[in-house]
Amino acid sequence: MPLSSEHQAEIDDQRSHPTPTLRATAPGMEKHLYTAQPVLDHGFVRVIDYMGDDAAICQAARVSYGRGTKSVQNDEGLIRYLMRHWHSTPFEMCEVKLHVKLPVFVARQWIRHRTANVNEYSARYSILDREFYIPAPDDLAAQSVVNNQGRGAALTGEEAQRVLRYLQDDAMRCYDHYEEMISQDGQQGLARELARMNLPANIYTQWYWKVDLHNLFHFLRLRADAHAQYEIRVYADAICAMVKDWVPAAYGAFEDYRLGGATLSGRALECIKKMLAGEEVTQETSGMSKGEWREFQGVIG
Ligand SMILES: Cc1cc2nc3c(=O)[nH]c(=O)nc-3n(C[C@H](O)[C@H](O)[C@H](O)COP(=O)(O)OP(=O)(O)OC[C@H]3O[C@@H](n4cnc5c(N)ncnc54)[C@H](O)[C@@H]3O)c2cc1C
Repeated sequence: MPLSSEHQAEIDDQRSHPTPTLRATAPGMEKHLYTAQPVLDHGFVRVIDYMGDDAAICQAARVSYGRGTKSVQNDEGLIRYLMRHWHSTPFEMCEVKLHVKLPVFVARQWIRHRTANVNEYSARYSILDREFYIPAPDDLAAQSVVNNQGRGAALTGEEAQRVLRYLQDDAMRCYDHYEEMISQDGQQGLARELARMNLPANIYTQWYWKVDLHNLFHFLRLRADAHAQYEIRVYADAICAMVKDWVPAAYGAFEDYRLGGATLSGRALECIKKMLAGEEVTQETSGMSKGEWREFQGVIG
């Protein structure tokens, strides 16, 4: 259960006091404001604030005095043009601020995206909750035999039970010792900033994360991808659903050109031209390495 009833009451309270504004609002995003979208066993993503909409992207691109909107079709065409030609600054005019609760090992991957503003829950100041990510049985996967940076089929039987037991027992034992060390009951109590080093990387942390739409798309392109680790991908997928509601035209262009599209090398393009001309091309004649050829085959099907 990612939210306590107290937290839910705070969210309900925030949502029950709408204020009029002259700013652009996106109806699709208004429905997400403050609500928590559950992710993993104790995590969530929730929208705290946002700025801009599809029209704001066009407004910036046209450096217009008004809303910058011509017609929906016209705007969509412009947004697709901007995305296609990597004219990225108009997308930077939209921003979103998220509250994310995530395991520390996911946060380590996430924080590599430097083009965002972050403020994390302070475990020097506050006591961390007893909440650990324990994978669902289907996600308790074996090491992949074809990709060192990946996973294979789910563990089964006694091995799966033993792994789950280790994860749960170790987390609880570490947390018991954490609590014991910081306790001031009959002792001085170790500083929170030191006691936390005993906690495993599957403990949950929280942060506020603010990012503009251009850099968010970059994050989503990398982390909603099949090559990203499942535990960060589910957060990216949840954010994708929100962005789709927030800026449908921009998300549509992103989905088409970035998520669904592919970048081809000069050699790959040459191969396609030869193939279209009816010539047989093999890995040996393509000028590509085996790995490149495999990926190329994956792209062209
Ligand atoms: C599948 C996958 C596997 C990965 N594996 C590893 C791994 O094994 N080890 C590891 O350490 N990392 C790994 N990473 C992290 C990866 O190398 C990047 O650090 C991460 O994806 C952030 O990307 P970014 O730097 O483009 O994003 P951001 O930091 O958001 O930057 C966005 C863009 O801004 C520009 N930029 C930002 N800061 C600078 C700067 N200081 N100098 C120059 N340009 C800058 C760059 O153009 C950059 O692309 C992995 C990522 C993925 C998706």
